[in-house]
Amino acid sequence: MITASVYPRQLEPKTWQQELAEAITSPEELAHALHLARGTFQDAQGAGRRFRLRVPRSFVARMRPGDPQDPLLRQVLPTPQELADEPEYVDDPVGERTALRAPALLQKYRGRALLIATEACAVHCRYCFRREFPYAEQHGGDAPRFGEALAEIARDDSLEEVILSGGDPLSLSNARLESLTRALAAIPHVRRIRVHTRQPVVLPSRVDDGLLRWLRGCTVPMVVVLHINHPNELDAELASACARLRATGITLLNQSVLLAGINDDVEVLSLLSRRLFDAGVLPYYLHALDRVRGAAHFAVADEQAQALAGQLAARLPGYLVPRLVREVAGASAKVALPPAL
Ligand SMILES: *Cc1c(COP(=O)(O)O)cnc(C)c1O
Ligand code: SF4
Repeated sequence: MITASVYPRQLEPKTWQQELAEAITSPEELAHALHLARGTFQDAQGAGRRFRLRVPRSFVARMRPGDPQDPLLRQVLPTPQELADEPEYVDDPVGERTALRAPALLQKYRGRALLIATEACAVHCRYCFRREFPYAEQHGGDAPRFGEALAEIARDDSLEEVILSGGDPLSLSNARLESLTRALAAIPHVRRIRVHTRQPVVLPSRVDDGLLRWLRGCTVPMVVVLHINHPNELDAELASACARLRATGITLLNQSVLLAGINDDVEVLSLLSRRLFDAGVLPYYLHALDRVRGAAHFAVADEQAQALAGQLAARLPGYLVPRLVREVAGASAKVALPPAL
């Protein structure tokens, strides 16, 4: 280990696993990291017990110190508003429990099935529509098992695309990802593999050499859909991670969730689209909030959402305008909300 003797340990860049282990999980620690007074986030405790605070330090580094209203902070900070019970906000807002075809395998739309690859996420987003998903029922025990899901995909030759979702599929090791996609690619009718992930966003170090090797080596075309909500998330480090992802030849897209007080602003959304393009990423969907229990305070009214989509369309080329959609239980596709023009 010549490198180890030349570079003292603390100067080596941290691995993503180390960064993950050092993620912030307590409100006091978060206040401290943002130079806010002790006790600033005292009221985060209650909601944090229901769905734990969790955010990697590299994401915290993109928040504005001293600003409790920072748009990145608000995505991850538990608040008492989450504990308010709103009748329309439920555990399974998009009808996933009835879409299960095999353990961890969901199908709602023709030709595409979605595999819950893991329950783990590097970050806990307060508005997450799967925050109440019964993961434990899907994979008995710690190590996810995909045998039944793979057999079901192999049996149904109408399934052309498999989406790895979660949780965050990139919480799995590169070796596990490789063996999973090798098994999928061996099924002749699987023509595309898609990965829905926020991990490169909150933890750019996740885009390591092994991950790039895995993407390059995959024998069916891969689509990676990132989840970035605000332009402040897209700093130089993330842009460089996007460039490395792109260089493997994958298709790179982004989806956002429209969130009150965070990105419900045409300037913010327009800057996000332009920065995404600069980083080699095209905007795909802008999701109307799924009505999951605890997230009502993030909702943007449909008319306002459609007005925003109209303003965005009026200032950007069509390929930089994400489609505003809502997921409706039982519908045959995501339902488009037309921009108000
Ligand atoms: C959103 C979703 C998809 C993907 O839909 P696209 O419109 O193809 O992006 C597939 N399966 C499930 C269960 C979904 O929720
Ligand atoms: S990364 Fe995605 S799955 Fe994980 S908490 Fe955030 S929105 Fe939910």
